[in-house]
Amino acid sequence: MHRIYNFSAGPSTLPLEVLQEAQEHLVDYHGAGLSIMEDSHRGKAYDAVHEEAITNIRELLGVSDDYAVLFLTGGATGQFAMIPMNFLQDGKTADYTNSGAWAAKAIKEAQRIGNVNVVADCGKEIPTRVPALSELTHTDGAAYVHITSNETISGAQWQEFPATEAPLVADMSSDILSRPFDVNQFGLIYAGAQKNLGPAGVTLVIIRKDLAARASDSIPAFYRYQTHIENNSLYNTPPCFPIYILMLVTRWLKAQGGLQAMAEMNRRKAALLYSAIDASAFYSGTALPTYRSLMNVTFRLPSEELEKAFVQAAKEREMAGLKGHRSVGGIRASIYNAMPAAGVEALVSFMKEFESEHG
Ligand SMILES: *Cc1c(COP(=O)(O)O)cnc(C)c1O
Repeated sequence: MHRIYNFSAGPSTLPLEVLQEAQEHLVDYHGAGLSIMEDSHRGKAYDAVHEEAITNIRELLGVSDDYAVLFLTGGATGQFAMIPMNFLQDGKTADYTNSGAWAAKAIKEAQRIGNVNVVADCGKEIPTRVPALSELTHTDGAAYVHITSNETISGAQWQEFPATEAPLVADMSSDILSRPFDVNQFGLIYAGAQKNLGPAGVTLVIIRKDLAARASDSIPAFYRYQTHIENNSLYNTPPCFPIYILMLVTRWLKAQGGLQAMAEMNRRKAALLYSAIDASAFYSGTALPTYRSLMNVTFRLPSEELEKAFVQAAKEREMAGLKGHRSVGGIRASIYNAMPAAGVEALVSFMKEFESEHG
């Protein structure tokens, strides 16, 4: 078997144990004589997968019965639209924070439907960052407040979440399940799966039930959260196989010791990389140190030529996906839950080697 270290921002690396478990049962699911992807989404085998996935998410994050855990489709991008469709009709206003590329996309989509107040804006700043809590203003009677907990492209992350009067809504696509936090602070949390949860194709939504019930009823049933709550995410055929892998990933997370253990591991991995960057005059971090992401470590080299050579030389050492997003350039090492510490150690020693050759 041949496995590289995959630092891609998403789809991204998955725990090897999860892939092997899925492989073992791919053709004949626990003696059923068929694959879980061929089985009915209303059958017994899939039902057990679906329920365990929900239970694992509830346990890992401490989600109370006031909230529904939903598996939807359409990615985080779909949620950029679905949130304002549900909560921003009829001339309502929502507060959005602009912290970078993903927040900006969420804002653009909401503006098609209702009024958006950008209540903190550091989206174009370099070094990159997210807003400080003290910068946030608020609109009286806002329908909700939207934040992007981790800016995957710029490598900046909220370290603490704002206490808001209006329901707090967060795009957690690239840091969900990477650290513990209090779900009760939020009205709605959403995440595309392909960074920290599983393969692309399923979108996790955790929504306060009373909030879902308040949504506009003038929109099609499929786009209402309430529809999916009433049908336990089985209103139509769900993405069964991605949900199956998500179930295995969450089972794996529990076996690792849950989110507290994961957060410690993630801090250690990120510290290795940031110390290497800070100890060198050759590499420079893209984000302000206070807001540095534990998931996406972004940095620059002295020139674009060197950055190109770095990505190429890393590839030859079986480290892939290090090229920064096309919109910002530079280097990005995505070190989600499933990236082993050994991968980060390999990258750090390669960085030292590359600097001594080119620095
Ligand atoms: C990847 C990402 C998205 C887009 O997710 P899709 O599933 O492709 O729609 C949105 N927000 C953040 C923070 C992301 O990292």
